[in-house]
Amino acid sequence: MQSLKVGMASLFVESHKAMSVQSPERPRRSSVSTLHSPLPSPQASEKGEGAGEEDEGKNQHTLLGHPTGTTLRNPPLYGGLEAGGTKFVCAVGTGPDDLRAVARFPTTTPQETIHRALDFFREQRDRLGGALCAIGIASFGPVDLNPASPTFGYITSTPKPGWQNVDLAGEIRRGLNLPVGFDTDVNGAALAEGLWGAARGLDTFIYLTVGTGIGGGGMVSGRLIHGLLHPEMGHIRIPHNWQADPFEGCCPYHGDCLEGLACGPAIAARWGAPPEDLPPDHPAWALEAHYLALALANFICTLSPQRIILGGGVMKQLHLFPRIRAEVTQLLNGYIQAPPILDEEQRQAYIIPPALGAQAGVLGAIALARQAAEPSAG
Ligand code: ZN
Repeated sequence: MQSLKVGMASLFVESHKAMSVQSPERPRRSSVSTLHSPLPSPQASEKGEGAGEEDEGKNQHTLLGHPTGTTLRNPPLYGGLEAGGTKFVCAVGTGPDDLRAVARFPTTTPQETIHRALDFFREQRDRLGGALCAIGIASFGPVDLNPASPTFGYITSTPKPGWQNVDLAGEIRRGLNLPVGFDTDVNGAALAEGLWGAARGLDTFIYLTVGTGIGGGGMVSGRLIHGLLHPEMGHIRIPHNWQADPFEGCCPYHGDCLEGLACGPAIAARWGAPPEDLPPDHPAWALEAHYLALALANFICTLSPQRIILGGGVMKQLHLFPRIRAEVTQLLNGYIQAPPILDEEQRQAYIIPPALGAQAGVLGAIALARQAAEPSAG
């Protein structure tokens, strides 16, 4: 089974190389997540949430720099697809300083949305003379990341109407005949931050997004965390003082899990106003910092991250960061004897915002494509 997969992966790339002007580096199957999804079978798990929170304009399609005709000397190019619950972002390039084209469009039906993505990549492949060597997909979830599973590459039990059991990676792979790297949006964003952003040089870190939902991904010892399914850090259970906070929580699965208590919609429902309308001295923020600090203390104790990146719409409230840092140190109570927890100055660099901003999602997808084409690049 394994060797067959490797063979097929090479085959796809070989067929692509035949029509590309310049061959990419010798591709191998990604150890993380790649192609080949046989037959569907439903699989239950929890709801996941997107890494990106920015509201992008509809139907934008931008071509950036790099006039056509220069592809002969170009390095291999990668396609990135950030599949979000509200929008898809597609890009072609090699990294943050080299995005050749970007397209954004709303997430409608699977058929329509996937076809638009395929059209974009086909158009770019034609424009660039066939230089695309792999596609990466950073998807909302839950998704099936187990290469041995019959539903590998599927979006599985999402509450998003019409998107349950959709073979996203398979459709893209078959439509373009290219290797496909596939992971959660938050693992993708973590990978991008590790390669180019706030976690460069580290091998164990997490990326948590706090927005319409709460999702977390990351790396342990240089590998994206997968395991049984993939992490669902937003759905951990944290202490909930019902006297101090009688809000029952808004997670459809657990009520007052972390996401149920601390995502953007929870803040809006509890206080009767959207988070962006609440001033920094509003009591909402002390409570929010408390819940996030409880969660981070748990992640620090379980994963021992060298850094924690907090992104998403709610974390645009930068005044949350010092509150969270201080409370994490307080909660750990001197037990974790590490300077980033104990030292006031080092703390500033331990729990931090993302460095890649609004592009983290699609750059994550590009990073997954690099892994799919050449595992050592990731
Ligand atoms: Zn939950």
